[in-house]
Amino acid sequence: LEKAWSFMIRSKMPGGRITAKQWLIHDDLCTKAMGNMRLTNRQGIQLHGVLKGGLKEVIHNVCHSGLSTMGACGDVVRNTMGPAAPIKDAVHADTQKLTEEISQRFLWRSQAYADIWLDGEKLEPNWIQDPEVNPAVREVTKAAEGDDPIYGKVYLPRKFKIGVAIQPCNDADIFSQDVGLVPHVVNGEVEGYTITVGGGFGMSHGQLTTRPFLGQPLLYAKRANVVDAIEAIVTTQRDHGNRTERKNARLKYTVQTMGLDGFRAEVVRRLPGIETFPPKALSFDTVEDNLGWHEQGDGKLYCAVHVSMGRIVDRENGPHYRSAFAEIAKTLDLPYIVTPNTNLIIAEVAPEQKAAVDAILAKHGVVHADGMTRARKVAHACVALPTCGLALSESERVLPGFMDKIDEALRELGLENEPILFRMTGCPNGCGRPYNADFGFVGRSPNKYAMFVGGSVRGDRLAGLEFKTVLGEEVPVKVRAFLEAFKAERKDGEIFADWFARTRTKGEAPTPEQFHIE
Ligand code: SF4
Repeated sequence: LEKAWSFMIRSKMPGGRITAKQWLIHDDLCTKAMGNMRLTNRQGIQLHGVLKGGLKEVIHNVCHSGLSTMGACGDVVRNTMGPAAPIKDAVHADTQKLTEEISQRFLWRSQAYADIWLDGEKLEPNWIQDPEVNPAVREVTKAAEGDDPIYGKVYLPRKFKIGVAIQPCNDADIFSQDVGLVPHVVNGEVEGYTITVGGGFGMSHGQLTTRPFLGQPLLYAKRANVVDAIEAIVTTQRDHGNRTERKNARLKYTVQTMGLDGFRAEVVRRLPGIETFPPKALSFDTVEDNLGWHEQGDGKLYCAVHVSMGRIVDRENGPHYRSAFAEIAKTLDLPYIVTPNTNLIIAEVAPEQKAAVDAILAKHGVVHADGMTRARKVAHACVALPTCGLALSESERVLPGFMDKIDEALRELGLENEPILFRMTGCPNGCGRPYNADFGFVGRSPNKYAMFVGGSVRGDRLAGLEFKTVLGEEVPVKVRAFLEAFKAERKDGEIFADWFARTRTKGEAPTPEQFHIE
């Protein structure tokens, strides 16, 4: 008797964009998994618990929806993240276009995917909702002659993550990405992008050669040259990345090994005839989502809705997220955007549809922001147990309970409207991006967490290790002690991140040893 192998299927959506029809296809498919969906903090969707026998049907249907799973996983460029807010101006339009251009340029070319999952079918144009946006998905299924034009015979040494953010909102958390992109705007138009390299958070407990890094500004490129510049970075990593030690294979280690100047020289060498410039100064004030109702700038509205831990499920004694979003998609045909904080934006809402959206959300017990502490709105955890095979401890299933107690402390201390970032993961791999949060909890073993403090709600500073081991029940107690000190010592208007830097770290980054707990 064969074991009941189960799998996770992840759909790729540049910038988190998904139509109502695509959402409903995923909603239907999740009944073949665990009956729920997980919004990811890379703005994708995961279906957990897909049994081996159902894999083909699920992947086939994801592809027929116009999305795909290609590049959502593997040693290639992953889902490209971008600003979530659907603001209708030239800058937001360009950043979204860039996420789609990157997605197309770095999609691997192989007939194997179609052979295995689509019975060799070609993804014809009528399968793709918007052929302008997604032509590479069709191209990729054409029989590939020779090596992949970018990945060659061997693909990349490791996964490769790219994100785009518009100052001052760093929702795509660009310093945690292999490549970060920030537009430089002149007279309302994007002139070019500053490119950062070498961010990445995965590490292994006790292995001193592994640690989180923040991305560093590399260069500035004119808009027309940006994707070529990224290709030069990706191929430099392809050719210089560490292929003997997988734990040191991410771009961050290549940049450390070559040195930032050496890495830049190699990238520039791969851009003959293209002028590059020094990076522009970057300044962010938050990684948060702006929850609630807002104007898009074209007469329509969008509503950013809090989704606890990004889990689209009908909770027994809580919000019926799945029913609410399915009903809105079915009855109002509105597109959604997955945010990097695992919340969901309902976009393109005509003013006359607003009441209907609110009524459906209310009917299913979903609130978009009301009454939550500011910290709760963006606190998130990785999936961890029971579906992640690498998890050492709980994460998604325990953080809401910890946040209940932390919320109590925040309210008692009058800090409920303070921007403080809480993130948790079930192991040191860092999928939940804990290492640049104000408070990051990293699973060590069941109910035991390493506690990091002192990142920043701006996403531009690494936290340092404060406690090697904290039991789950101690988490709110330890947090409260920091909150009390913050309240007592803060200057007028000072946020937690700045108070911590002023009084505790003096702005210095933690040393590598601080990241290790053995
Ligand atoms: Fe799994 Fe670890 Fe990633 Fe969490 S951080 S999803 S436990 S690999």
